[in-house]
Amino acid sequence: MKPRRIAVIGGGISGLAFANRIREAAKADSAPFEISIVEAQDRLGGIIESFRDENFLFEGGPESFITEKPWALELCQRLGLGSQLINTRAEYRRSFIVRKGRLEAVPEGFYLIAPSRILPFLKSGIMSWRGKMRVLAEPFLPARKNSGDESAASFIRRRFGAEALRWAGQPMLGGIYSADPERLSLRATFPKFLDWERDHGSIIRALRARSRAGKNSESLASGPRYGLFASLRTGMESLIRALLAHNPDLSVTTGAAAVRLSRTSEGWTILLGSGQELRADAVACALPGPRAARLLAPEFPELAAQIASIPCSSSVTVNLGYREFPLVSKFRGFGFVVPEEEGSGILGCTFSHLKFEGRAPSDQALLRVFLRGKLRDRALAEKDEKVVTEVLLELERLLGISARPVLSAVRRYPDSMPQYEVGHLDKAAAILKRSNEIPGLYLLGNTYCGVGLPDCIRLAESKAIEAMEFLS
Ligand SMILES: Cc1cc2nc3c(=O)[nH]c(=O)nc-3n(C[C@H](O)[C@H](O)[C@H](O)COP(=O)(O)OP(=O)(O)OC[C@H]3O[C@@H](n4cnc5c(N)ncnc54)[C@H](O)[C@@H]3O)c2cc1C
Repeated sequence: MKPRRIAVIGGGISGLAFANRIREAAKADSAPFEISIVEAQDRLGGIIESFRDENFLFEGGPESFITEKPWALELCQRLGLGSQLINTRAEYRRSFIVRKGRLEAVPEGFYLIAPSRILPFLKSGIMSWRGKMRVLAEPFLPARKNSGDESAASFIRRRFGAEALRWAGQPMLGGIYSADPERLSLRATFPKFLDWERDHGSIIRALRARSRAGKNSESLASGPRYGLFASLRTGMESLIRALLAHNPDLSVTTGAAAVRLSRTSEGWTILLGSGQELRADAVACALPGPRAARLLAPEFPELAAQIASIPCSSSVTVNLGYREFPLVSKFRGFGFVVPEEEGSGILGCTFSHLKFEGRAPSDQALLRVFLRGKLRDRALAEKDEKVVTEVLLELERLLGISARPVLSAVRRYPDSMPQYEVGHLDKAAAILKRSNEIPGLYLLGNTYCGVGLPDCIRLAESKAIEAMEFLS
């Protein structure tokens, strides 16, 4: 039987997880597939990028993944990475929020927008007394009847008041998605909150019930539930290396952007920037949304317009390695987030050496800073040294330290953060429905069904099975 040819455009985790799933499933029924990956950059992995320098382990993009959604964890285990999985360091499980130029500890039991424990919340400095009283009134408010989508900001204001949005919701929820909470869809990002309101009538009541039932094993940790996050000892890029090692038959072309995709009577033709043409029976488009829209526009203008209607922002991270970092002991934790209100170009900062083992030599420190707003926009074009200088000034202002790093690395990820605005789930469903009507085309990536690695992997793996069924 003639092998069926599958082309994967984009060599990030989505494209590689798609290819891997086909190999895994094909082994079982021994159907022959030839898989080619074309990648614009000269390396595979896309946003996943780990590198070592003088025993510091830098992560440019993702540094961990949530295990509550099992698809990344399961993939790691299937690839034999089980012994490489590490958890966050239990001794430093707390985080901070900047308020009026100072780092305030997120109180124990505070989950993104709401407290499950009253006393630590009351004692904390994360908002005013008035703000705290408004938050604690939440269990007495009626639940919303309508179950439709709502912006994160509208939900938080409605349930917890304006201060909770300003000092907790905006930096925590908005920060995770690099998004404006006024536009961020709660249904597409944190559906749990809407479900809890429906099921318990109150988020605080739901958190307390979970805590009591012992389900929330992280209830004593502050901020996001770090115990539910896993990473890989030698960095997230080990996942990419393992995917390649398990797929030695993959035909990989790097440094070759796909510039045209056309459908012919015999299947698909992909034209690469180098002038080379690739033919395939099926195509997986594993690109960031704006790039996918550009590639699909000539052949499928309506689908491309739908994809292009999902806004997408860019990210810049700055890793800083310090021989000495005089962080006072009360600030020892996983890092901090900065509310928009503070007017900082820093969105958040991870103290990577305290969050995971092995990120820096002992007694040395590794910080990872996320930029936002004008600082991020400038950093996309400016020289690394200038970006680092601006970041150090901001860190000095926020942490009161003037230590100089011995190493730094700026990483830019254009079009890396799709903005899941209110109504996103309907939009994504309509896009996937339309693409399903095009035989042999599979849309993957973080634009549609989730930005985190587990969701990217889940979509890629389910599309791989669909592609195999189509080609069988
Ligand atoms: C700074 C940052 C931190 C993050 N942290 C986390 C985290 O801690 N945990 C988590 O779960 N998620 C995190 N995410 C989200 C997650 O990393 C991404 O959603 C995921 O890696 C996207 O993978 P992908 O393969 O879909 O896309 P990408 O990684 O963007 O891969 C797409 C690939 O397509 C290539 N390409 C583009 N155009 C073309 C073309 N024309 N032809 C061929 N190739 C092309 C690109 O070069 C790229 O390699 C983070 C994201 C960012 C930006």
